[in-house]
This record gives sequence, structure tokens and C-alpha cells, in this order.
Amino acid sequence: MTENDYFEKSEDRFLAGTYQKIPVLAAKGNGAWIQDLNGREYLDFMSGYGVAILGHSFPAIKEAIKKQLDEIYITHGSMYSPARATFLKDLSGILPHGLSRAFLSNSGAEAIEAAVKIALKATGRKKIISMENAYHGKTMAALSITHSSKYRKSFSELLLPSVDFVKFGEIETLEALLKNEDVAAVFLEPVQGEGGINLPPDGYMKAVRELTEEYGTLLVMDEIQSGLGRTGKMWAHEHWGVTPDLMTIGKGIGGGIPMGVTVGKPEYVDSLKKGEQSSTTGGNPLACAAGSAVINELRNGFVTVAEKTGKYILSEMEDELSTHRLVTDVRGIGMMIALELKIRFVPVLMNMISGGLITLYSGISTIRLLPPYIVSLEEVDSAVSIMKHSLEKQLVAAGAR
Ligand code: PLP
Repeated sequence: MTENDYFEKSEDRFLAGTYQKIPVLAAKGNGAWIQDLNGREYLDFMSGYGVAILGHSFPAIKEAIKKQLDEIYITHGSMYSPARATFLKDLSGILPHGLSRAFLSNSGAEAIEAAVKIALKATGRKKIISMENAYHGKTMAALSITHSSKYRKSFSELLLPSVDFVKFGEIETLEALLKNEDVAAVFLEPVQGEGGINLPPDGYMKAVRELTEEYGTLLVMDEIQSGLGRTGKMWAHEHWGVTPDLMTIGKGIGGGIPMGVTVGKPEYVDSLKKGEQSSTTGGNPLACAAGSAVINELRNGFVTVAEKTGKYILSEMEDELSTHRLVTDVRGIGMMIALELKIRFVPVLMNMISGGLITLYSGISTIRLLPPYIVSLEEVDSAVSIMKHSLEKQLVAAGAR
């Protein structure tokens, strides 16, 4: 048995079988690259599902973590912490206007749980509206507002009872629901990620904001995937000139150390009283120190880098791939990009891996790309070339060439 086989078999034996595995044993990471145990290198356009926004082993993040390790790396939320206070101050510098109170946790789903509780408590209402194709995580409240029946079906009777799903981008049904029922909150990913990189149509976000204001309903933006520069602006909702009442942040915020953040207007967040929400390791100094380093890098230009490199990736993919026989669409914003195929994504994604490019997917026929912002234009060219070869290889395998 090779060392690779040994590690893979050990994981398969002991880990719950909940992850769809790909055959990559990631031993090291540097920049936009992952290296396996045999030294084989892969361009990483998965970035740990959008966590490694500045790539792997980013010097300033590593330094911040090392420094904090030497000081203190666990401080419960019931005690004060210099690293936490600094992080909150740094975070406040990049938050949308008015969203000045934060709850710190350890994951995106946990950030959503807190947002659901805040919305229900602050409004005293029970109904929540979410979107078709929305993804907000897999803990019970997050799953309740996640649309996919694949994730929900085994638990459907146990989920929050009063959640309605409306079509993302369609305003009439939403308006009717807001008008006829007391709705606590509308949850919205400004750009749907897991749902296939879906952008809202013109005018939609403004209309949702106006309607939620009119009916006293909170607007919650889930920026867990789309935030922190991913779409070329600090927060994706800025593209449409609206401000939410609550917002969730996750993925890259802790620089790879688990972290989730729920932020909001104080009048809503403060509705949760002492003991009504907590998280033992939420806001721990290690995640906070890494988070401050991430915020610092974003403020020093990486959001603009994401915007520019994202445009380059999209235009290269449009030029090189959009007319390919297996491709139905290339779309995206910033560094949130989809390559939609006429066929199931699996064989093409596997060709990409054997060609040295790691990507992720949405649904059954869409390859999703969440590259690290630090990727160079040469690396982008290599990635696009691997994508093209992977499509060609599939045509040959299917006997169409
Ligand atoms: N919300 C969105 C938009 C996400 O993309 C994700 C994860 O992909 C989550 C919530 C859940 O985050 P986590 O997996 O950290 O619980």
C-alpha cells in the first residue's frame, strides 16, 4: 500500500461518509497551489470551498497566527481579549453602515443560526422567507432555510415549520407574502453560490430592500461565500446599492482558522439577552488575530485585485470556452464563476483534476470556481487551458471526436 493509499483509507474508515471525496491528498499548500505527498502540484481553484481567499500559506496570516500562539490562543467570550477587541475594531472598519454589533462563532452555519434567532426574537414574528436554490448551511435552522431537497429530505419534519421559498429574482410572490403575513426576515445570498452562481436581475435587490422596509421585515444578507471581496467589492450587496439589517460572514474571515460572524444593527442584535446565544470557541484569539490580518490585506488592495483578476478570468473563459460544444454558459462576478455544461460535471471535473486543476461544482452540470485572489494571470491562463483540454478529453471519451 502506498502512503497515499494508507492516508486515504484511514480517512475513509474513520470519517463519517458525508463528504463527496475527490482523489487529492493535500499535503502542502502555497499560494494558488496544493501539493500532494508525491510532490504532484495542483492549481487550487476550490480554495477550501472559498476559505483560502488569499491562497495558501499567506505570509501575513501565518505571522499573525504564530505571534498569537506565543501569547494566548484560547480565551472564552466571558473574558476580555486584546486580539478580539482588535479584530472587532478592524471588522467595524469594513462593515456596511449601521451594522455595528457582532456575534462571533466558528462557522457559516453557526453565523446563520444566530441570524435566525436574532430575526425571530427582534421582530417577535415566526415566518421566514428564503429563496429557491438558496444555500445557508446544514445545521437545523440553516437547513430549514436551505432549499435543496437532497439535503432536507431526511429531516423535513424536524425543520423550522414556517419557512417559505420564493423564486430568486422574482418580486411578485415575495411581495404577496410580505403583505399577507407577518414575516420576520428575508434571507438572501446576493449571489447564489451553491445554487449555481446566480446573479439577481436589475432592480431586484432595491425592490426587496424597499418591500422589507415597508413591511417591517428584516433583510438578512448571507455574505458567507460572496463577501470579503469575492465578487470584486468588499460585500456583494454593494453592487446593488442596498444595505441589509443583518449580515452573515464566514469562510475566509478567519484566514483558515474556523470563524463565523453575525453582524447587524444594534437594535436587532441586542434583542438577544445574556445566555441566549453563545459559542465556547467563538471569537477565540487565534481566529481573531488571523481575521485582523485578513482584513488588513483586503483593505490594502486585495479587493481590487479580486475585481481585476476576476474580470480577466471571466473574459478568458468567455473567449476560450463559451463556444465549446459541451458548454452552455460562462457567467460570474469577480472571483465567483460558473462554467455550465450540457452534461453532468463529474467526468469534466475529474479530467481537470488529472490535468492539475482543482475546482468545485454546483448542482449536477455546473463547474464552480472560487480561485484565490492572489492567483497570477499566468496561472489563470494555465487553468483555462486545463479546462479546455478537460472538455476536449470528455468529447473524445464520449466518442464525439
Ligand atoms: N451560507 C453560504 C452562502 C455558504 O456558501 C455556506 C457554505 O458553503 C454556508 C452558509 C455554510 O457555511 P459553513 O459550511 O461554514 O457552515
